[in-house]
Amino acid sequence: MTKEVHSFQAETQQLMNLMVHSLYSNKEIFLRELISNASDAVDKLRFEEITNHNLIKSEKENSISISSDKEKHILIIEDNGLGMSKEEIMNNLGTIANSGTKKFLEKLSEQDKKDSNLIGQFGVGFYSAFMVASKITVESLSAHGGSAHKWVSTGDGSYTIEECDKETRGTKITLELKEEEKEFADDWRIRSIVKKYSDYVTYPIYLAETKDGKVEENRLNKSTPVWARNKRENKTEDYQELYKQISMDWREPLLWEHMSVEGLVPFNAVVFVPSEAPFDLYTRDNHGLHLYVKRVSISEKCKELLPEYLRFVAGVVETDELPLNVSREILQQNNKLPQIKKQVVKKVLTALQNLSQNDNEKYLNFYKVFGAVLKEGFHFDHEQHEALSELVRFKSSKTGKDGYVSFKEYIERRADAQREIYYLTGSSFDAVERSPHLEALTSRGIEVLFLIDPIDEWFIMSYAKHGEYNLKPIHKGEIDLTGIGKESEDEKKSEEAPAEQLVGLIDLFRTKLANDIKEVKISKRLRESACCLVADENGMSAQMERIMKASGQ
Ligand code: ADP
Ligand code: MG
Repeated sequence: MTKEVHSFQAETQQLMNLMVHSLYSNKEIFLRELISNASDAVDKLRFEEITNHNLIKSEKENSISISSDKEKHILIIEDNGLGMSKEEIMNNLGTIANSGTKKFLEKLSEQDKKDSNLIGQFGVGFYSAFMVASKITVESLSAHGGSAHKWVSTGDGSYTIEECDKETRGTKITLELKEEEKEFADDWRIRSIVKKYSDYVTYPIYLAETKDGKVEENRLNKSTPVWARNKRENKTEDYQELYKQISMDWREPLLWEHMSVEGLVPFNAVVFVPSEAPFDLYTRDNHGLHLYVKRVSISEKCKELLPEYLRFVAGVVETDELPLNVSREILQQNNKLPQIKKQVVKKVLTALQNLSQNDNEKYLNFYKVFGAVLKEGFHFDHEQHEALSELVRFKSSKTGKDGYVSFKEYIERRADAQREIYYLTGSSFDAVERSPHLEALTSRGIEVLFLIDPIDEWFIMSYAKHGEYNLKPIHKGEIDLTGIGKESEDEKKSEEAPAEQLVGLIDLFRTKLANDIKEVKISKRLRESACCLVADENGMSAQMERIMKASGQ
């Protein structure tokens, strides 16, 4: 048996140097990488087994085993997967064959970005183990047979390879941890890293722990995750627990939806609507869903899966349609994620609709907290206008301060011959309720929506028409109420009031206010008040002017 010494490919060496010297934090992900390699190796074995019956058998179930020696700072990760021949070891662990790793390398050196976040986004792979290990030994026996080989490197430019004794198929990776990284040999540390990144790996992950002088093999990861199980197998508590795990919210979720979609891009998902607002509802920019690919956690907040106007939604999506070593850029360009996103959006909006129909009180509680955020959707997601329009609620001249009306109810109780939905914008319920603009309509029994959320000005710009009904501001331009609602006696009288009598007064207003207003008109919109300001049909409303001013424009 001879021991050969080989140099690493230049690029590999470069990558290792970067790993060791540039990425200080987030070192723990090395374990995720080694576990995912082990899981891949078992996947490959299972795939080959289908057609090749001559592979070396294993007495153990397909699994990944971790053990450690705290005194000697040693951590061992072992699998009974496909294993590697000598050539495979040299190719796989001596060169960068993998394009994801290559991309990562380019990114890292090109921007000189010592950003540890980056490393979490890439499948950085095997070499990340050099962040914590001063020496790595890989022993592997290919399931195809041949002899086992041992690869050893200290990450300094070369590695050795020689035959070794390994009777069982698969790969055993031994890390000699650096003095300052010895915590990675602690059971609690291993447990927490596995829980965090690899809880849903398909195969069992065992940790050999010593208790009262006896070694126990304890399983660290869950069996099948909630979202991959059949809905009927899950209990309410399973969903509640998952919600708490992924959302950092200790309260129960308001509702959830479990999706198992076959179709063009198959995926499993569980999405949750919280019952209370997170403290950062209006400032958060890290919304998204937790993305898994083949049980490996890829991104905890995948923005590509959730529009901003649903930023309060928490959830998990798993699809096998993406490569494991997917990078941030790839996530952004990927054309499968938008398809998943669309279905998630549809599901969430439908769930909210169902809630509003089945338990209106609960829905309104939701709406009070999240309604304004939901309304942003009118601006950003034209495709969902119809669904969103069924979800919005307003205060109005008929709801009182605490009530709400939907478009549907508004239309049901509209006046005969009414072909428009009337609204008034303003800064508060009280301010709008006192507005002289309302008089002509309320006296005829016509309902007026109060758009008093700051977001409403944008809402109205994006949503000018509901079905066949135009949304009509009553504080802008002309409104013709002829034939709509019940005309009161007062109204008839005011119609009859001869305009000639007012000509002198109007002229006086015109000259005195010439610099402040555009026009003075005789109005039919007032009952009690003597006069009111009306915005131009195409002009900004008073509320919009206030918002623009407040934002410094
Ligand atoms: P990636 O997993 O993205 O391909 P890695 O750097 O993690 O890149 O691993 C490089 C290669 O080494 C893998 O593609 C695989 O062929 C091989 N390899 C790593 N770990 C194992 C293992 N436990 N069993 C078999 N092959 C492995
Ligand atoms: Mg890998």
